[in-house]
Amino acid sequence: ATPTALLVGTGRGAQLGILIKGPEVLESTRRVDTIVLDKTGTVTTGTMTLLDVHASPGVDSGQLLQVAGAVEDGSEHPIARAIATVAKKAGPLPPAENFINLEGRGVEATVTVGDQRLPVLVGRASLLTDRGITVPAAVEAARTAAEQAGQTAVLVAWQGRAQGVLTVADAVKDTSADAITQLRQLGLTPVLLTGDNATVACQVADQVGIDEVVAEVLPADKVAVIERLQADGKTVAMVGDGVNDAPALAQADLGLAMGTGTDAAIEAADLTLVSGDLRAAGDAIRLARRTLATIK
Ligand code: ADP
Ligand code: MG
Repeated sequence: ATPTALLVGTGRGAQLGILIKGPEVLESTRRVDTIVLDKTGTVTTGTMTLLDVHASPGVDSGQLLQVAGAVEDGSEHPIARAIATVAKKAGPLPPAENFINLEGRGVEATVTVGDQRLPVLVGRASLLTDRGITVPAAVEAARTAAEQAGQTAVLVAWQGRAQGVLTVADAVKDTSADAITQLRQLGLTPVLLTGDNATVACQVADQVGIDEVVAEVLPADKVAVIERLQADGKTVAMVGDGVNDAPALAQADLGLAMGTGTDAAIEAADLTLVSGDLRAAGDAIRLARRTLATIK
């Protein structure tokens, strides 16, 4: 039989905006010593804004945006939404087909421009270099400048060449720094985990007070980061919101999903922070410790 205190604890959780899968979850919540936080949508708002369009010499920046928008229209990624939305406002998107989502890297599709059917690739720099695509010095410079400014650079390529860069960024949630302070006060070590570039990741980490950063991690490798910490003897909580966070949420000793996140993340997690406020993570740990203290 489940001790009454545990049921009271889960009920109290609901009042705090924390949905707990089952009373037994409180035990793993209590033992956690390390908390891995996904960046985009967990520590930051996840709502990306398109900031700049840098077209290569000889490329029309309006056309660059339209072509990129047509490709990104096939993706639900926050970066894709930002780009497609602005592109659509500028005018109807050119026809695109054969969309392929390259998880954690970008998107590809065939776009019809005039009488040409162009295979187009939109995504991170490593995606282009892996495909042997030429990245001109001006494009590389725009990418580096964007990343130094804390932005994410999205490269657009066709005909074997990067034709320009779009830069996007989102903001740190105003409750994140406070949430990290509370987690530290509870004795937890926070770690920032992201597929985004290291420069952006370190800037976000600095803003919220996180010292450990694991960046440029492909979705499939997020699980391995959790496993490595567990192999080091840590009891690991993971907080995430994306489809690509789901396996890591399941692997962690305690998975916490943002209520504002995807169904996949919520299903994989043990706890859901209903409002998407990261401060509820600390509340959950305090609640678990208090609840179990009344039993033992
Ligand atoms: P995160 O871990 O921050 O949620 P993802 O794993 O989803 O990030 O993506 C990692 C990186 O891959 C992004 O920062 C971006 O550079 C690139 N990327 C992923 N999807 C897209 C897309 N649809 N368009 C452009 N770039 C993308
Ligand atoms: Mg995310």
